[in-house]
Amino acid sequence: MARAPLFDIFVIGGGINGCGIARDAAGRGYSVVLAEMNDFASGTSSGATKLIHGGLRYLEHYEFRLVREALMEREVLWAMAPHVIWPLRFVLPIQKGGVRPAWLVRLGLFLYDHLGGRKLLPATRTLNLARDEAGRSLKPEFRRAFEYSDGWVDDARMVVLNARDAQIRGATILSRAKVVSAQREADHWVITTKSTRDGSTETHRARMVVNAAGPWVDQVLAGAMGRNNAHNVRLVQGSHIIVRKKFNHDRAYFFQNPDNRIIFAIPYEGDFTLIGTTDRDFKDDPKDVRISEEEVHYLCDAASDYFKEPILPADIVWSYSAVRPLFDDGASKAQEATRDYVLKVEAPEDGAPLLNVFGGKLTTYRRLAEHALEKIAEVIGAKGSPWTAGSHLPGGDFPVTGAGKAVSELMSHAPFLARGHAERLIRCYGTDARTLLSSAKTAEDLGRHFGGTLYEVEVRWLIDREWAVSAEDILWRRTKQGLFLTPDEVGGLEDYLQAAMAA
Ligand code: FAD
Repeated sequence: MARAPLFDIFVIGGGINGCGIARDAAGRGYSVVLAEMNDFASGTSSGATKLIHGGLRYLEHYEFRLVREALMEREVLWAMAPHVIWPLRFVLPIQKGGVRPAWLVRLGLFLYDHLGGRKLLPATRTLNLARDEAGRSLKPEFRRAFEYSDGWVDDARMVVLNARDAQIRGATILSRAKVVSAQREADHWVITTKSTRDGSTETHRARMVVNAAGPWVDQVLAGAMGRNNAHNVRLVQGSHIIVRKKFNHDRAYFFQNPDNRIIFAIPYEGDFTLIGTTDRDFKDDPKDVRISEEEVHYLCDAASDYFKEPILPADIVWSYSAVRPLFDDGASKAQEATRDYVLKVEAPEDGAPLLNVFGGKLTTYRRLAEHALEKIAEVIGAKGSPWTAGSHLPGGDFPVTGAGKAVSELMSHAPFLARGHAERLIRCYGTDARTLLSSAKTAEDLGRHFGGTLYEVEVRWLIDREWAVSAEDILWRRTKQGLFLTPDEVGGLEDYLQAAMAA
């Protein structure tokens, strides 16, 4: 039997870190394979609060390196993907006798504004909540607030756009392919993947392996590589709830809770408000993570302390939960464990090298990938140089302030689109929206209507270009149309996909 071709790098895990590393490496000229056992971003990378942020709260834990790097990344990422990333202002109400004095919060925000990288994002200002619209939905005791800048990202789309770009640059991208074994030989690895769709197996060879399995990073070491007692990450669960829109402006809220934690309330998908997150240690298999009743009550109570209208569990239209794979630094409380990432290379003299990725944030994934590439160059030799700052993710080749113009252009190209539909297509696909619609000259050409603003032409694109296989991939990761489809409509999409996959 012919031996499998020898690749430079085999990446395990199609979350933001694995896809970011694969993209960077492919762009430098390495030959790369990436295997994801489920769908891209089906792990932690679709379960985030979705902020491109420095992390104001991490200043309290003296994480200056991380905060500075993340602050600097905000505008770099915005320019790289202005369709799926945009700026957001945060309103932080000040309470007399609150957990942190106002001067301390202001000092934190001063540092936040000046630690680095802020060119376009506006600086902090003070709000009089009696006069500002942001005060209208809050209890009257909140009279003053600070308003500062950070960014918002569609996390799952950022992941799949990295996977697409890696593929465009030559990487082999495998979805629904679980790494079940990785055997180290003297100068290469032999990796076996098993299809989670039909059970078939495939063998691959690579000069080095990157283990970017997020919360499963220790499971890969123990299961696929046969290590005893792999214990590097601390799993910390975080959950979010989505309720109908609680306020009528486009800013988010930053609420401080009496237990010293914070939560956000963020405008979400036009008609909704996203509230999160929690922080609690998690011991089970990450695939089974679900929001608990205790977390539901915690989030409802914490938000109700601020909003005039209480938030009740019955108001929840959707929720999601994920685990942070934090590097285990021995911190006593989950909320204090470091949010920084750690890259560890194992390069024994008589065996092929392995790079393990621990921790990380969406915001720092590009820098994490650059650092990973430095380590990779040390062990298998350098190729190319850093290139991703100043690059564009697919569809992101327009100016950061150009989304409105892109929507108007799309509507003049396809006048049969409703504005809300055109806006969503630009937010999901950027300049690729036009290619997606290329065959559609009339509303009928959009094909079957599945509900919401989801039509066949988009579903075909997602199957052909973005590895979508199931209704969940399409409704909850490639888009958030799940919020708008009825159960019958979801059933219709499932039937369509089943037939499409069998064809
Ligand atoms: P994952 O996304 O979990 O990817 C790992 C992938 O590996 C998974 O898709 C999994 O299926 C795959 N895999 C595992 N084992 C195998 C195998 N054997 N074979 C093949 N594939 C395998 N960051 C921010 O910057 N801003 C935020 O607002 C923010 N909020 C957050 C809120 C919460 C509640 C959480 C949990 C995290 C948040 N983060 C945030 C952090 C950020 O989401 C994570 O750091 C990031 O998504 C981790 O990505 P990853 O690629 O390491 O892991």
